[in-house]
Amino acid sequence: MPTHETSHAPSHTSRCAAAIPLNPLRALFPLVARDGMLSFANGHPSPDACDHVGLAHAVDCAKDDEMSWRYGPSIGDPDLRPQLAMLSDVEPDAIVVTSGSQQGIDIAVRSALNPDDCVAIPSACYPAVLSVLAANGQRPIAIAEDEHGVLPEALHDTISSSAVRALYLTPTFGNPTGRVMPRARRIALLEICAQHDVLVIEDDPYCDLWFETPPHDTFVALARVVNRNADVIALRSASKSVAPGLRVGWMVVPDRLRGAVAAIKQASDLQTSGLAQRTVFHYLSSGQFDAWLPQVRALYQERQTVMIDGLHSAGFAPTPVDGGMFSWVKLPSGVNPETLFSNAVKQNVLFAPGISFASDPTNQSLRHHIRLCFAAQGCAKIKQGCKRLGQALAESSEAQNHD
Ligand code: PMP
Repeated sequence: MPTHETSHAPSHTSRCAAAIPLNPLRALFPLVARDGMLSFANGHPSPDACDHVGLAHAVDCAKDDEMSWRYGPSIGDPDLRPQLAMLSDVEPDAIVVTSGSQQGIDIAVRSALNPDDCVAIPSACYPAVLSVLAANGQRPIAIAEDEHGVLPEALHDTISSSAVRALYLTPTFGNPTGRVMPRARRIALLEICAQHDVLVIEDDPYCDLWFETPPHDTFVALARVVNRNADVIALRSASKSVAPGLRVGWMVVPDRLRGAVAAIKQASDLQTSGLAQRTVFHYLSSGQFDAWLPQVRALYQERQTVMIDGLHSAGFAPTPVDGGMFSWVKLPSGVNPETLFSNAVKQNVLFAPGISFASDPTNQSLRHHIRLCFAAQGCAKIKQGCKRLGQALAESSEAQNHD
């Protein structure tokens, strides 16, 4: 089973590059590519969720649009920024267009933090954040969580004992747990961060994918109404709701950081692709996005229902989430996670082991969870995959009984 390791780098590699941990999810790619493998491991949106017709029309408009082919402002296309501002319910000046929210994380960190600064991150965390922090020389500190997310007392204790400059979170349908942090918890964390001058980096690529009701107030919105001293950078993305290959995301940046963010974006890549930005602009202008998104939500909701049923029949006890793409499932007691993983691979089904998301690799408690993406496969494959998981679980329990 792949684990956190640091890549072995030749001597001419920078210290930061050498410190980047191998991404445990990327290490699964060879298994994903195996013939007959049914994978719930990757967090990739479904090709069925892509509005091919609407996007083809938008690409047609973009290809005939001279704005697609020019250099443009580093902070983003002047027509697209107001549209994104509406989606985030902020003023257009706050928007910086990025190449996916992954670049948003990088730019946030490089604009607001120095090497050696500490960043508080949830104990179960999107692994590519560790890569960004290592690449820029910051130190991650894992903060304990309960079912509502990062614990305010734990954050407070950590801030009191180390030089924490930022808190990174995915509070809405987060990766890996799929859960939504309740409003009261958000406010408690925001207050602590405001009090200690800690920047909140709210990574929010899944917020559009709600099933029945839109999610709670974002940290950005709460900062406006609850504590104006709080600094929040929010990161959004078109990857999960439009198409990941476009590589269009955006940042909502507080006033005092706008100059730094614009400078880092410019230093990084001058601007996000003009063709991609104009495609998103034409897609949003056409009204097709508003018409299509409810279908994506319904598709993923149905897939979650099928997966939850299948997992129950297979002997797991999953809890449904209210949106997003992930099911975070605790293993039945007595099941050895590594045995289950290798039995699942033998059965040609793949999940992401919980330990892949440990922000502190010495924290073994996440071993007893697995993350399953219900978004990427159709219902028939989900049923089949759950049967295979059931078989793997039965074999793992039998193996356990013979130990
Ligand atoms: N943040 C989180 C929490 C993610 O799960 C992902 C993608 N899996 C990203 C950022 C990067 O997404 P994008 O395609 O927008 O760069």
